[in-house]
Formats: sequence, C-alpha cells, structure tokens
Amino acid sequence: MTTCPACGGTNEPDAVFCANDKCRKALGPFRYAAEEIDLRARWHERVAERVVGWVGHSSFFAVHLLWFAVWWIINAGSVRGIHPFDLYPYGLLGILLAGEAILLTGFVLISQNRQQVRGEIRTELDYEVNVRTYREVQALGEAMRRLEERMERMSTER
Ligand SMILES: [Zn+2]
Repeated sequence: MTTCPACGGTNEPDAVFCANDKCRKALGPFRYAAEEIDLRARWHERVAERVVGWVGHSSFFAVHLLWFAVWWIINAGSVRGIHPFDLYPYGLLGILLAGEAILLTGFVLISQNRQQVRGEIRTELDYEVNVRTYREVQALGEAMRRLEERMERMSTER
C-alpha cells in the first residue's frame, strides 16, 4: 500500500497516480501540479473554469433552446396575461446575446490561459523527474564503476 501525501488515501503499491479522482497526485517526492494550479488561481479564473465547463455541456444548449423558445412564444403574443416586450426582430434578445458572447469569449480565453499554465507545470514536472532519474542513473553508473575497479584490484592481488 502506498499512502498519498496529498490526500492521505491508500493506493496500490505500484500505483503512479493517486486513485482519488479529485487528487490524482503523482505518488512520490514530486510537486503536486493540481494543488499548485489551484493555489495560483484567482477568483475570476475559478469562475471562468466553471462557466467554460458548463458551456461545453449539453445543458448549455438545452437552456438556450428553452430560453429562445419561451422568448419567441411570449413575444408572439401567444401567452395570455404576458405582454410581448421584445417584438420581431427581437432587439433586446440580440443585445443580451451579444453581451453573453463577449463574456463567454473572455471566459474561454482565461480558461485557455489556465490550461496553458497547467501544461507548463506538467512539463516542468516531467523535466524535474527526468533530471532526477538522470542523476540517479549517473550515481548508479559511478557506483558500478567503483565496484568493478575494486573487483579487478581484488583479482590482481591474488
Ligand atoms: Zn491523493
């Protein structure tokens, strides 16, 4: 069993990443990319991630279709008791959608920047692990060489 240093969850002995879906830390003495990204996140970045996550969801389209349908039905004068407030060609709806589009564009750009930062941290982590492995291998090679020399000396001394 390997205990995750970030969330304390137990994992298989040969696990590479924490099995906890919310954690996914690389098991070992490495930095924790997800936590670092969250620590760096500011409130508007968190909002952007949430919004962009929802935009990619099917409920986003469902909500919009429903919104347009209700808008159209009300403004066609088909609902008794509710006065049409935005007649064809639906100028108010157009303004609202333009505003929404501007906000969404901003959120998508913020979210993309975050994705890029995430990618950079992951790459850095990869690089760090590579360098550590390289040093480890170098040290092993050095130890082997010393061992070899010692064995040679022992065999010539005899
Ligand atoms: Zn964990």
